[in-house]
Amino acid sequence: MNSPKRLVLILGDQLSLDGAALKDFYFETDEVFMVESIHEAQYVWSHQAKIVLFLSAMRHFAQTLKSLNYPISYIENTPLSIVDALREKIQQEKITYLICVEPGEWRLKQEIEALAKELEIQLDMREDDHFFCSHSEFVAWAADKKELRLEYFYRLMRKTNHILVDADGNPEGDQWNFDQENRKPFPRKGPGMIEEPIFFEPDSITQEVIAFVQKTYPNHPGSLETFRWPVNRSQALEALNYFVEYRLRNFGVHQDAMWTNTPYGWHSILSSSLNLKLLNPREVIAAALNAWKKYSLDLTTIEGFVRQILGWREFVRGMYYLDMPGMAQDNYYEHQRTLPNWYWTGDTKMACMKDAIGQTLQYGYAHHIQRLMVTGNFALLAEILPSAVCDWYLAIYVDAIEWVELPNTAGMALFANGGRFTSKPYIASGAYIKRMSNYCNSCKYKPDVRYGETACPITTLYWNFLIKHRSQFESSPRTKLMTANLKRISDEDQKSIMEHADHLLNNLNNL
Ligand SMILES: Cc1cc2nc3c(=O)[nH]c(=O)nc-3n(C[C@H](O)[C@H](O)[C@H](O)COP(=O)(O)OP(=O)(O)OC[C@H]3O[C@@H](n4cnc5c(N)ncnc54)[C@H](O)[C@@H]3O)c2cc1C
Ligand code: SF4
Repeated sequence: MNSPKRLVLILGDQLSLDGAALKDFYFETDEVFMVESIHEAQYVWSHQAKIVLFLSAMRHFAQTLKSLNYPISYIENTPLSIVDALREKIQQEKITYLICVEPGEWRLKQEIEALAKELEIQLDMREDDHFFCSHSEFVAWAADKKELRLEYFYRLMRKTNHILVDADGNPEGDQWNFDQENRKPFPRKGPGMIEEPIFFEPDSITQEVIAFVQKTYPNHPGSLETFRWPVNRSQALEALNYFVEYRLRNFGVHQDAMWTNTPYGWHSILSSSLNLKLLNPREVIAAALNAWKKYSLDLTTIEGFVRQILGWREFVRGMYYLDMPGMAQDNYYEHQRTLPNWYWTGDTKMACMKDAIGQTLQYGYAHHIQRLMVTGNFALLAEILPSAVCDWYLAIYVDAIEWVELPNTAGMALFANGGRFTSKPYIASGAYIKRMSNYCNSCKYKPDVRYGETACPITTLYWNFLIKHRSQFESSPRTKLMTANLKRISDEDQKSIMEHADHLLNNLNNL
């Protein structure tokens, strides 16, 4: 008897030949199904470069599949959602068996499961083995923890995967974490010569997609002038090799540093390739460990890099699935303000925000500290509605996919889940930005002034936040120390800070 045709759905962020979806593919009877959904591009208000990256990477992957003789049905630019396109295909061809890898996005997972039920077809939804840690392993780890903290999860991942540990499971260099040594600003004179990351000229497929996006989404934010992201596996591998060869050596020490017109620092710029699954995290870590030995690189740098991928990336994914759908609604401080318009234009007088948002619009990229301590810090201090902030992050970064964006934004930057996996809110005044960058040198505001016309808005809003939440901070040993410096500010000055903050909060669009 002939086996029935099985439809193998491959989503835009599952572009790996080694993924679980293709593991037992029958070339005689099975068919790959890929959908470019205009609906998905509009569901979040995406940066033009993000749309180009996804579409171009999907088309390149489809081309690879075709060259390997995979039967494939590829739907270009449909106004249907992925699930509606899938429904149409299944109904038209009377398909009874659907294979896919579990979507990264919670909503899509629910929708595919509901569709399979509705159409009464067999759904073979497979675990995403791209990640080191499965959902069940994460749930088991979280089950008996009083506090969910990266550090302990990360140690477990190091031991389980035998990465940077000796045969007895002890950490390399007798220390699990070298974070303290990875937080230095650039020297006062500036970062000096930074080896440029490798980028790729758009080929004919990418050029076609760029033309399409310019025509179809002319009002979407962001620039396509400098679109140079890796769009296929061979480019992603080249980018990885280039990074470990030339840039990894300086990754660690200035990981948190910022400088004007220095959009990438020493960062790897690998997140979009990892998230599209053009790269596997195991090969990225292996390449870094290999370079560490080959070039005798600093352990602090290597540990810092491994922690981001084996630690944070796996941890936030675990947290996302553990806490969805609630995580998307969390609003611990009940903030309700609207996102200032200049988040979409970069047209603000605050030099730090202008630089971080400007490069984001230009390239679809900002590094972690710019996202956390510049745009994220401001959004928290300015009491913006968390879901509006999350929508912005999801729209504007080329590496943004909800499973990684939401926990980072709502959980880490905005403390919207009340500290479910962070010990205290990540807030800072202008003094921190002054220490970690040169932004304040060219700013009309003064980072050390707390209120008045020249006061740095971030500084004013920082102190205002501490004054507002003082009793709450002081009631917990985790946050008690945060308000210690308030004792040095007179009641009168505190009143002036609050009045000035009130004025700023009511005029956010004019900052
Ligand atoms: C508010 C906010 C939103 C964010 N949104 C996203 C997002 O949508 N997509 C995304 O991939 N990352 C996101 N991050 C995490 C981090 O900022 C980016 O992964 C990083 O800036 C990507 O640049 P890179 O590849 O040069 O990273 P590097 O600094 O070179 O780090 C190496 C790799 O580690 C991983 N990594 C590092 N930090 C994190 C983290 N906190 N969470 C998960 N993975 C991490 C990434 O895969 C990254 O490529 C966000 C962080 C914040 C604070
Ligand atoms: S003074 Fe304040 S607003 Fe201006 S760059 Fe410094 S931190 Fe940013």
